[in-house]
Amino acid sequence: MSTGEKYSLPDLSKYENKLKRLHRQLSRKQKGSKNREKARLRLAKAYEKIINIKNDWIHKVTHKIVNENQVGKIVVEDININGMMKNSKLSKYIHMQSWGKFITILTYKAKNLGIEVIKADRFFQSSQTCSVCGYVNKEVKDLKIRKWVCPICKAEHDRDINAAKNLAKYGLTIPVGRGPFEFTPVDSALAAEPAKGLRAITG
Ligand SMILES: [Zn+2]
Repeated sequence: MSTGEKYSLPDLSKYENKLKRLHRQLSRKQKGSKNREKARLRLAKAYEKIINIKNDWIHKVTHKIVNENQVGKIVVEDININGMMKNSKLSKYIHMQSWGKFITILTYKAKNLGIEVIKADRFFQSSQTCSVCGYVNKEVKDLKIRKWVCPICKAEHDRDINAAKNLAKYGLTIPVGRGPFEFTPVDSALAAEPAKGLRAITG
């Protein structure tokens, strides 16, 4: 968030380990056996648990965001889910899927309260642009870089908060029905962060 707040998923490493264990157990069971069926059910339950935790989290955070929004606008980053699907690993795709779900629920809740949700252009370089001077630092493309210093103006940036500030500015350039020109930016930290829980459900 441009306010400097960050939301990250609860730690799911406990469940991640359990999933791995259950996957291993399942693979050892004989095909068609009763034990295999039991193992399959246990695994399905463990997946469900993780999905439930994530959904709870999404509902809580989106609730907080829309209820604390006093100005009627929220800017979110648009991520190309289909593009993600074609390239790269499943884990990344699942990250994006969660992000997609997050946005869907956020948009739905915002609408109910009459808050407008603005999607930033997917080619908008929110992470790489210095929110102070506007310099585009290509090196920041690397998701591993969480903090960086602008080589031009020397401003120190937290990756996600800088991105959120850029999204807030981006919102200013979009003509929308209502004033005043203030809003809550929500960046894709959720999707970008290597959150354990999201990786977990890939097994
Ligand atoms: Zn700068």
